[in-house]
Amino acid sequence: MSSHLEFRSISRTFGDAEVLHQISLTVQPSGCVALLGASGSGKSTLLRIAAGLDEPSSGEVLVDGENLAGIPSEQRGVALVFQKALLFPHLSVVDNVAFSARMAGQSRKASREHAMAYLELVKLADLAHRSPGKLSGGQEQRVALARALARTPRILLLDEPFSSLDSGLRDTMYSLMGDIRAELAPTIVLVTHDRREASVLADSIAVLDSGRILQHGPVAQLHYQPATLAVNRLLGGLN
Ligand code: ADP
Ligand code: MG
Repeated sequence: MSSHLEFRSISRTFGDAEVLHQISLTVQPSGCVALLGASGSGKSTLLRIAAGLDEPSSGEVLVDGENLAGIPSEQRGVALVFQKALLFPHLSVVDNVAFSARMAGQSRKASREHAMAYLELVKLADLAHRSPGKLSGGQEQRVALARALARTPRILLLDEPFSSLDSGLRDTMYSLMGDIRAELAPTIVLVTHDRREASVLADSIAVLDSGRILQHGPVAQLHYQPATLAVNRLLGGLN
């Protein structure tokens, strides 16, 4: 499942506003890079571009050296999980996950089996036949993760997936992310504005500020050798 992801000098302007400025960033196969930055710094825009939901004004996204320009979103092998799960309300949990596997080209039978396997991975197999309306927020996000994984994506993009959960539930999700990395080893970009989350989950942190990467390095390096005051402020403090 793991692939090399490269953003090569990505810029994005909306009208007069340059929201991303020559972003270059590499994620190694099976690596997890956290993209940390204040609200409005351009994090979601960068993920949307990688997922094919938006186009860069200039620059390229490459997966295993293949330029994704012009490749439709559903053919990219890139799955995006949002802050809100957005499950189909009329489908059961397992059918939500199986639908995603079907869209990725699996047969009806295989898609159901895969869906159950992914629900087991996120520890929700016992709720497979529940309606999404009867799930808690944490359970919904676990289904959203299973649904993304059911596409067997080359790249997993997570856009603040845990930010609406309380801190105890977040710790459960972190442990689950550890299981997913150990079992499937996808290449991950995790967007967050929570420095603790970035430190716990990622191998390296890229700090985004007003559409520019201020610093990208191993978690410890950003803590102990921040390149600028702005980086220090984002990573500083006691937690
Ligand atoms: P973040 O996810 O870091 O909070 P976003 O990538 O959502 O930031 O947004 C970065 C900036 O780009 C914001 O100022 C936002 O208003 C602007 N922006 C995002 N999408 C659009 C769009 N479709 N049209 C105009 N401006 C946009
Ligand atoms: Mg965002």
